[in-house]
Amino acid sequence: MEREAQVVVLGAGVAGLSLARLLWERGRRVLVVAEALGEASRPPVALVNPLRGQRFALALEGARALEAALGFYGRFVSLHLGVLRPVPEGERERVEARLVGSGLRYAWEEAGVVLEEAFWLEPRPLLQRLAEGLPLLKARVLAWDPPFLVLEGGERVRGEVLVYAGGSRGVHLLGLAGRHVPGLVLSLLDYFPRAVSYRVYLAGVALGGSYLPHEAHPSLPPPTEGEVEWLLAGAEALVGYRPRVASAWRGVRFRLAPGDGSPFGLPYLFPVEGGFALTGLGSTGFLYAPLLAGRLAQALG
Ligand SMILES: Cc1cc2nc3c(=O)[nH]c(=O)nc-3n(C[C@H](O)[C@H](O)[C@H](O)COP(=O)(O)OP(=O)(O)OC[C@H]3O[C@@H](n4cnc5c(N)ncnc54)[C@H](O)[C@@H]3O)c2cc1C
Repeated sequence: MEREAQVVVLGAGVAGLSLARLLWERGRRVLVVAEALGEASRPPVALVNPLRGQRFALALEGARALEAALGFYGRFVSLHLGVLRPVPEGERERVEARLVGSGLRYAWEEAGVVLEEAFWLEPRPLLQRLAEGLPLLKARVLAWDPPFLVLEGGERVRGEVLVYAGGSRGVHLLGLAGRHVPGLVLSLLDYFPRAVSYRVYLAGVALGGSYLPHEAHPSLPPPTEGEVEWLLAGAEALVGYRPRVASAWRGVRFRLAPGDGSPFGLPYLFPVEGGFALTGLGSTGFLYAPLLAGRLAQALG
């Protein structure tokens, strides 16, 4: 048996579903093929924050990506606005200089800067709602053979355009090079209505996210005591106590090796044989997925 669609999207994480949703809303015949509804895209909480890391680097096109994320996700789930980024005294002038012309809305508090339109959301209901009504085939893809995806069992799916959004686990299908970085997010018995983020983040019922050394292939090692301790110590530094832990979630981020640039402005969306890849988003999948999905949907008509 052979199925076909104008656009066949491999992957039902935040990247694949954002794209498929936008194409479907534009009346394109789209089919999503995936083994499961998201993989890295299933932390208990995701932060959408364009001011990155301990160095407070501004994400490329951060304000534009945040605007797209607000408009898109807000149609499907509640967004919990406002992310407090504690800033050490000596860094404040530098952070202010970065933010002042950035297009981001922010305000200073005693502890640091609040990004007023950054937010956290719950990814699992988001994926569920993005998938509602979309043609979705639950299957494992064994080969990328344009214009076909070859499925386990021998069935083939034909797409006029194929889009790879298979995250970390599917990259061998295209031979994409990059780093696979496992991390941990703890689910908590305590609740933090406003996100606070410096080294670790506390948001809703979650404490994230650790970084294990990167690997050449995706793997999901069991949580280590060192990681949990590191997360709890980070939380204590932020709020003065250690929140109570209910469970742990392990995921793997995929970061693409630096490439030759992309016609779409950001390195996570680029042409491949038979179509496009929307992947390699590292820790910023929820920030960039709507902006890039929008650009690709527009390019595909
Ligand atoms: C610990 C941790 C914390 C994070 N916190 C945040 C955060 O706060 N904010 C943020 O923006 N980002 C965060 N991220 C990063 C974010 O989760 C990822 O960037 C994003 O989820 C990647 O989405 P994706 O759609 O590319 O991949 P995935 O969600 O991994 O989806 C891949 C899809 O492809 C399918 N698939 C793969 N291979 C095959 C195959 N062979 N056959 C069939 N289907 C296949 C899978 O079933 C799945 O549906 C975090 C990541 C980790 C690990």
